[in-house]
Parts: sequence; structure tokens; C-alpha cells
Amino acid sequence: MTDRPVTPVIPRPQTPHRDLLQLEVLPDEAQMRADIEQLRQEKNAVILAHNYQRPEVQVIADFVGDSLGLSRQAARTDAEVIVFAGVHFMAETAAILNPHKTVLLPDLRAGCSLADTVTAQGVRDWKASNPGGLVVTYVNTTADVKAESDYCCTSGNAVQVVQSLPQDVPVLFAPDRFLAAHVIRETGRAMDVWDGACHVHEAIRPEDVQSQQAAYPDAELLIHPECGCSSRILSAIPELQLYSTEGMIHRAQASAAQEFIVVTETGMVTRLQHDVPGKTFIPVSRTACCEYMKMITLGNILESLQNLQPRVTVPEEIRTRALLPIERMLAIG
Ligand code: SF4
Repeated sequence: MTDRPVTPVIPRPQTPHRDLLQLEVLPDEAQMRADIEQLRQEKNAVILAHNYQRPEVQVIADFVGDSLGLSRQAARTDAEVIVFAGVHFMAETAAILNPHKTVLLPDLRAGCSLADTVTAQGVRDWKASNPGGLVVTYVNTTADVKAESDYCCTSGNAVQVVQSLPQDVPVLFAPDRFLAAHVIRETGRAMDVWDGACHVHEAIRPEDVQSQQAAYPDAELLIHPECGCSSRILSAIPELQLYSTEGMIHRAQASAAQEFIVVTETGMVTRLQHDVPGKTFIPVSRTACCEYMKMITLGNILESLQNLQPRVTVPEEIRTRALLPIERMLAIG
């Protein structure tokens, strides 16, 4: 008798693969959501989720918003534990604002390609060559870089922050060159620009926008200034308005249009579907998807609440210097 080769049995998937644009609760998620809710109360925790998070994470969050909104929530929360459903620099910002609270990032690998483009040493080098100069950094930076900055900003208040600066001093705007181009257009202020970009937004091409416009001719465009396509589209349609993620919500609510092409990371479609019911939101491309943001899941949120790990902390010497530009950003609006 000869041994017959054994064919390995590959188990069938137990649950359907989740569509990253759909809000429905999958069968296996109901118990996890209940467990998270129980632990959230037991541990006096708050869950803050970025607009680019998975739908099932946005649904269980206490607050969903952009970096500025999340920073404001982190600054005012009474909770003892902050679970940050976002990426590492956001959890650092929460830790800078709340040194005595426990800040959890359910997966420490959730980084940011844009934040990785600039270093504290690079900013120090610019300051050495530009005495008296001011450094404005997008909130998508590490705590080390914030500690070298004069002001932080988000896409929602970058124009106001730059407008508030004294004239006649050199300014460095870092690290997003697309947002910098938008700010220069809006303010007319000459600035040195760091040559950084987010890989997700940079990859969105004008052709992606055009092909969705051809498929949905009545849809209005909602374009984020971080997008690589924004400069090229603006040169063709100079009167086009760009919107921060919060600005997209307000525009979709106020507009008479019923359909919108959402030109940013796909998670924003979830937020818009939730906040502006009855209208239709079309992602510019299903591949405009940040794999760092999507590392946060219901499973690792539950584990982090069970173990109160992994924690994000910032050394006190860095924290106190990084706090000032963040507080200036929060004060400007
Ligand atoms: S979408 Fe881009 S800027 Fe936002 S976290 Fe991901 S890599 Fe960073």
C-alpha cells in the first residue's frame, strides 16, 4: 500500500471580507462591540477616531474627526484612558496634551509616510540658516519635530495660522508641499516649503478625478488640499474650492448637489455617509486607502482596552517644547 499525498485542507473564511466603505455591522463584530463598550465604561476610556478609520471603528468611537478636532477632544476629555484610533503622531499629540492620562495606540505600527519625511535635525538646520525665522509644521509630524516648531496647523486652519504670522520674517512650512501650495495661493505669503507628501494623497491623479466625473457628471467635487492632483486641477479650474475634511462635511450639507466625488482617503466617505444622510458620496479611487490608518481594528482596540497597552508617551523635555506650537494652533481656531 502506498501513502497517498495528503492534500492540505484550507479552511473557508468564517466571515465575509469587510468592505471598507460599508457601515453595516458584521455578525462577528457584535460581541466585540459589546465587550469594547463594557471595558470603555469600566476603565473610564474615550475612543477618538480619525475620519480615515475603518467604518466599524468610526461607528464605536466617542468622537470622529480630523486631526484638529481630535486634538481638541483630547485636550478637553475627562476620561482617564484615551484610545487613539488613528496613527502614531496623533496619539503623541494626545499624550503631549494629557501627560497624566493613559494614551493607547492599538497598533504601534500605525505610522505616517508624511510625518516620516521631516526630522527635527532638518528643521534645526533650516533655523540655523534663517535666524529669526518661524517654523509652521502640519500636525502630521513627530513630537520631536513639533518641539522645534513655532506653530502647528492642520488642513482646516493652515491658512489662518500663516495669516497670523508677522510679516518680514522667513517662514518654513513643513512637511506637506501640496498643502503649502494651497496656503501660498490663499495668503500670497512667500515661504520655504519642505518637499514632503503623503503617499496616499500624492497618488491621486487628475485622471482619477476625470474618470469619476465622466461616470457621475452631476456630482460636485470635494477635493482635499493635500492631494497630488489638487495643484494640477486648480491650474485647469482656478475657481475650484478646496476643503479640509471638516470643510467637506459643511460643504456637502450646504450644497444643493446630491452626489459628490470625494477626493481624499476613502475613510472620509464613511464619515460623510454618516453625517450627511440621503446624499451620495463616491470615492475618487478605492485605492486611495491609508494602510496605516486601517491597521486599527475592533480586535486590537479590544485588546488594548483589556491590557491598557500599547501606550504612547513623550519624554517630558520634548513634551513641554512641543506643547507650545500645539496650544497656539488650538488658540487660532
Ligand atoms: S493618509 Fe497620508 S497623511 Fe494621513 S496618516 Fe496616512 S500616510 Fe499619513
